[in-house]
Amino acid sequence: MAEEALDVGDTETMGERELSGEVALVTGGSRGIGLAVGKALARAGARVALAARNEEGAMEAAASLPGEGHLGLRCDVGNGSEVKDAVSRIEESLGGVSILVNNAGIARDNILLRLKDEDWDEVMDVNLKGAFLTTRAVARGMMKRRAGVIVNVTSVVGLMGNPGQSNYAASKAGLVGFTKSVARELASRGVRVNAVAPGFIETDMTEALDEGQVETLQGRIPLGRFGRTEDVAELVGFLVGPGASYITGQVIAVDGGMAM
Ligand code: NAP
Repeated sequence: MAEEALDVGDTETMGERELSGEVALVTGGSRGIGLAVGKALARAGARVALAARNEEGAMEAAASLPGEGHLGLRCDVGNGSEVKDAVSRIEESLGGVSILVNNAGIARDNILLRLKDEDWDEVMDVNLKGAFLTTRAVARGMMKRRAGVIVNVTSVVGLMGNPGQSNYAASKAGLVGFTKSVARELASRGVRVNAVAPGFIETDMTEALDEGQVETLQGRIPLGRFGRTEDVAELVGFLVGPGASYITGQVIAVDGGMAM
């Protein structure tokens, strides 16, 4: 990220070309929240790499972004060598990654006594280790350039807990500790690290809920509705832009008031 883009005096909100010159990597970018974030960053002028396990899906998503020069690529974030290869490919074709959004995430829900070892391991590998591997892969370049922004997508469930999601909640709570530790490590090198904590957002992940569950959950949301992917993308867009240049190590909920 260019030094002047971090200028404290610049208070405009996310403008059309505010992120021009930036290179963003969004993991889990082929659909849902990741795709909406990719769109918001592309609209603001960044060149965006969208990574997912399904390469075709990632490429199609990248082709749907506004503007030119975006990239869709295969990368399983739980696999260290795939992460390294993906970051090298992005650096070769777009340049050094200046914005990282660790968004890839999965759920394997079950009550504690029925939770299998593999349900625990798979969720940790993608949601928590994936963020570590990807952050480590881009951090050196960001530190060298003394600029960069990282946003980790956690969840209100990581803050509040949720029955049937102990693995998912633990991975998302872990991401909060990871965010704060890396924010403290990298602040002096000009790199900011924050997390967003969405509540229930309309995506494939929440599609599986039945009508009764949706009604019950909506009753627990002060604003009375599920969020849209754009609600999360707006917040991420703000956090990576100059308006947030004095914000690091924070976890900001976008959840209709659920976790206050
Ligand atoms: P989604 O619609 O299920 O999309 C998940 C994305 O992640 C897809 O692009 C998927 O593509 C990718 N992905 C899954 N495993 C991956 C892996 N190992 N490596 C790389 N990419 C992978 O999910 P979403 O609802 O948009 O959720 C996005 C993030 O927000 C997640 O971290 C989730 O935990 C968090 N979140 C969601 C909600 C919600 O209500 N929806 C609430 C709070 C937090 P492939 O399948 O092709 O890999």
